[in-house]
Amino acid sequence: MWVRKRLDIGWSDLAFGLTRTALSASEMAVRGRLEQRFSPAGDALACLSVRSGFDLLLAALDLPIGSEVLLSAVTIPDMARIVRQHGLVPVPVDLDPATMAPSAESVRLSLTPAARMLVVAHLFGSRVPLEPLLASAQACGLLVVEDCAQAFDGRYFGHSAADAGMFSFGPIKTATALGGGIICVRDSELRERMRMRQAAWPIQGRREYLARLGRCAALKLASCRPVLRTWMKACDLTGRDFDQMANATTRGFAGPDFFDRVRRRPSTPLLAMMERRLRKFDSWRVAARAAAGRQLAQLLSGRVLCPAAQTDGHSYWVFPILVANPSEVIAELRREGFDATQGASMCVVPPPPAQPILRASLAELTLPGIVYLPLYPEMPPKALQKMANVVLRTSQAVAPLRESAGVSVGP
Ligand SMILES: *Cc1c(COP(=O)(O)O)cnc(C)c1O
Repeated sequence: MWVRKRLDIGWSDLAFGLTRTALSASEMAVRGRLEQRFSPAGDALACLSVRSGFDLLLAALDLPIGSEVLLSAVTIPDMARIVRQHGLVPVPVDLDPATMAPSAESVRLSLTPAARMLVVAHLFGSRVPLEPLLASAQACGLLVVEDCAQAFDGRYFGHSAADAGMFSFGPIKTATALGGGIICVRDSELRERMRMRQAAWPIQGRREYLARLGRCAALKLASCRPVLRTWMKACDLTGRDFDQMANATTRGFAGPDFFDRVRRRPSTPLLAMMERRLRKFDSWRVAARAAAGRQLAQLLSGRVLCPAAQTDGHSYWVFPILVANPSEVIAELRREGFDATQGASMCVVPPPPAQPILRASLAELTLPGIVYLPLYPEMPPKALQKMANVVLRTSQAVAPLRESAGVSVGP
């Protein structure tokens, strides 16, 4: 079985983390080295997660209550939750299913006089071209924030004209440190306000980080192919949902005390791990993954809609396809040894209750039909070809999108 996702961290990284939880080091020195490495210009602020950094940004900005924050319509639900927590109103910006990018036109359609910020998410590892959006958004007085949580490739550190960029080292992200995030903020005064606010937050415990290292090691073992096969069989036999179990293992900050858990600063071992992942960034791995992604996209080209595929700068963090019969495709892929999944981590940002007209209808049509195919450098071309054949044989095109998105699907 080709597991859906491999955690992008090696045994030597885990061993390094282990030694770092045992040693004591100066938080300030490690933080300084990390931030300097990420942004020699001095824009970076290291946080416990992207969500922590975004929360700091909104707190420090202190926008008028009721201001609107335009969000790429597809993102993780916590981003909208954080916006609401600050008394602000999340408004979705619809996406083109072919590129998963918002157009200048969709930004214009979501824009009201109360809008103050636009958050653009680079989804699936792709890179949304920002130029067409920056000029018009900034002309309307919007702050532009890039969510690069899925797009980190060791080379792109954010657009110089954006007001802020956010990068995640969370468990399922590229070059993970099993947590951690970096937010780059151009305005130094704003950044220092965020820094001071964060300094007053409690620190993540070393023991908690140690537990993360342990869970990750267990998950890495479990994703060896023979172990996984046994685990999935055991789930089948005991009637448990393998999908739910796998997702629960990588979820952070679950539970009712969400904001207490997000509003902490990263432990020193976590800061050291982020610094190590940057210093030893494996560009070969990302390049090989991108090459596999391009190859798979080529195999499906013109017959199956692959959102965001074949766009410039795409590193294929994940490889989604859009089909009308997702459960059928997933079942068939499983039978053939490919652990595809619908993924439960992202949602479509709902429109403000008072303005249902602002709903992101294309995104709402798209997300339920998305299936993530397993894809990583270890998969040989033969496995990609076999997976593509299963998809070609079982998938049905999503009909209503043909007209609305103007994309060609199927012969
Ligand atoms: C993972 C992710 C985040 C959150 O990152 P954390 O560092 O886990 O808080 C935010 N936005 C998107 C689009 C993501 O994929």
